[in-house]
Amino acid sequence: MTEGQNRKELVRYARKAYKRHLVGGTGGNFSARISGGRMVVTASGISLGDTAEDNLITVRIDSYKWEPVKDYIPSKEYLYHADILRMRPDVGAVLHVHPPYTTTFAVKGRSIPMLTDAAFKQLPMPHVPYAPSGSKELQEYIVQAIEENPECKVLFLEKHGIAALGKDVRTAYDYADLIEELARVAFLAEQL
Ligand SMILES: [Zn+2]
Repeated sequence: MTEGQNRKELVRYARKAYKRHLVGGTGGNFSARISGGRMVVTASGISLGDTAEDNLITVRIDSYKWEPVKDYIPSKEYLYHADILRMRPDVGAVLHVHPPYTTTFAVKGRSIPMLTDAAFKQLPMPHVPYAPSGSKELQEYIVQAIEENPECKVLFLEKHGIAALGKDVRTAYDYADLIEELARVAFLAEQL
């Protein structure tokens, strides 16, 4: 996929995630690997619903260096996006969102019960202990989770949400959307 196609796909799925209520307000952040050891990441303080090609920030994966675009700066979570892309050559995109049912389990300190046919096929989701968003501590916990679970596709961030890892933006989006469906079914099943 060319850099232009990658940027377009990231914008399309960021907006879709917002419309689908996988995240609200200005929460969440998406990144995608592009050529030359770089990634594009969504901007700080901009709703994923308002993501556009001209507010994506380009960041060097190894050095975390970036240049502002107009007044836009990268999401405060960009450091761990770069870490994941550096540590996992198989991953081309990282999506962080706060889907309501998934996050309900995360705030209650519970794993999502895997109850359905689709759920049985999922890899275990490593839990990342709580630390404030944008903190060095959270970045370190995420690096540790990736080191300990080199195959994982989704990180479950306690009291926070999830980070989905895919070979491209669409694949990562589908993981995030599926996990939210599993969490919703598990939540509803407990009400019966
Ligand atoms: Zn978040």
